[in-house]
Amino acid sequence: MNKCERCQKREASIIVTGDGQEQLCVSCFNDRLSKDLGVQLESMPEEIVVNDHSKTRRKFVVQQRLYPNGLFLEATEDIEYGYQFAVHGEIDCNQEELFQKLVEKVKHGVHKQFTKVGKFLNGQTYHSIIGDEVVGRIDHDERRSSEPMIVIDGQPYTWEQLGEMVKSYEGFQLQIKFFDMTDDVE
Ligand SMILES: [Zn+2]
Repeated sequence: MNKCERCQKREASIIVTGDGQEQLCVSCFNDRLSKDLGVQLESMPEEIVVNDHSKTRRKFVVQQRLYPNGLFLEATEDIEYGYQFAVHGEIDCNQEELFQKLVEKVKHGVHKQFTKVGKFLNGQTYHSIIGDEVVGRIDHDERRSSEPMIVIDGQPYTWEQLGEMVKSYEGFQLQIKFFDMTDDVE
């Protein structure tokens, strides 16, 4: 990964194109947008720690991203293919309230469990869907680029594993609807 062209310290994760091209870290990108838009980013906690449905502690790293169309806050769990939540506010929004909204979204999101682990008589484990409903996130499968990775309950399921779980609903109807990361899934 390349270093940020401004601070030369942090990893560049955003490519800004305009007159030429610049690779920036999130912090320098925010600084730049902050000046361009005349918005001051307030400091906020860098981590959120909550207990999930099974009282397991889950730690999230908070990231602020300023864009011309608003402020985005993301909470990403500190494990691979963990939970991830995001909220969006207007440029002039109350940033403290937006952060609280993110905290509430994280708490609400880890509160409900959609899948559970069971065991066959031969000791082999299997996963099943608990309440006729699944809410999750579509991620990228590093190993098999032809298939998505579906993250449910803060853990990854391959397309095939999801298919196994869905098999018990044979004969049922199915509704698939996609939501932006900043939308609320009811
Ligand atoms: Zn930088």
